[in-house]
Amino acid sequence: MDFAHLPHPAPVPGETRAEAIADPGFGSVFTDHMVVIDFHADRGWHDARVTPREALTLDPACAVLHYAQEIFEGLKAYRHPDGSLALFRPLVNAARLNRSADRLAMPNLPEDLFVEACRQLVIKDRDWFPTVEGGSLYLRPFMFASEAFLGVRPAREYKFLVIASPVGNYFKSGVPAVSIWVSQDYVRAAPGGTGAAKTGGNYAASLVPQAEAISKGHDQVVFLDAVERRWIEELGGMNLFFVFADGSVITPPLGGTILPGVTRDSLIQLLRDEGLTIREERYAIDQWRSDAESGRLIETMACGTAAVVTPVGKVASPDFEFSIGSGGPGQLTQRLRERLVGIQRGTVPDPHGWVMPL
Ligand code: PMP
Repeated sequence: MDFAHLPHPAPVPGETRAEAIADPGFGSVFTDHMVVIDFHADRGWHDARVTPREALTLDPACAVLHYAQEIFEGLKAYRHPDGSLALFRPLVNAARLNRSADRLAMPNLPEDLFVEACRQLVIKDRDWFPTVEGGSLYLRPFMFASEAFLGVRPAREYKFLVIASPVGNYFKSGVPAVSIWVSQDYVRAAPGGTGAAKTGGNYAASLVPQAEAISKGHDQVVFLDAVERRWIEELGGMNLFFVFADGSVITPPLGGTILPGVTRDSLIQLLRDEGLTIREERYAIDQWRSDAESGRLIETMACGTAAVVTPVGKVASPDFEFSIGSGGPGQLTQRLRERLVGIQRGTVPDPHGWVMPL
């Protein structure tokens, strides 16, 4: 693949780079470049390039605009204390992209090409790392059907892109506990559906329940299973872990309806490193409530790339409301968060080889 053609940076209109990266927040500032790779059923992947970040031109019949053949990933690049750059477990994201591609009838992208695309973009835009403490470069790889065709069948043409966004600390000060709203009218994914794929439609369908959570005064929505409406699945964009007073931990199993989070997988390993019992097991909403009320459950953690590890402080539905522990971050939540953030940022040893230097 030819990444040799690296054109001049395109400045962001109305912003200087220094202002943009001083305190970028999340997801609204973008770097100068992007990676584009084209796919045609007859040619495979071709024309890999790093270009100035610019608008795309799409045919109005472009398949993604009609039948939503689209998948994406999210991972972060970090600048370590010695100035070196690193990605966190990019091969896990590459593998997940291909599992999403399989479900959406899209072509697989070689995993080394995925990693090389991320690497090239981070190196090209290395001046875009935020200056704010806790900042990183969030990478958004994505693939969509670009063929102009209105029949309902898998497209024959696709584009894979990577864009980058400097992001600050997800939470401005400390790690506040989030308040969760239990969605009763909506589900996120059904057995046999697309819940385990990272595809845009899952997120489009979560916007109304998420807006409901906000309108009720909560931060995030938690989804229950689609069949019995009883088993806890995940938040709109984070996986969950339940921590008990006896030192054991439960996380909902990957049964095809929840997203296999990279952070979830990392936390399972870190819990095992600590010698704790971690079970991938179904956990019911009523049980969550009674365990929190009895004190059997002492912490609940939400986890994902953006916010890493976050405590859940309060849970509410039209029928009930309960708090977890003291309502603030618990000990295990804080310890695991520090450990994982430390590994990602290169301040704590990395026993599992998760950090990929660039
Ligand atoms: N669940 C959903 C629905 C998500 O969108 C995300 C974010 N990718 C996660 C869980 C957490 O996954 P990860 O740890 O890979 O960011």
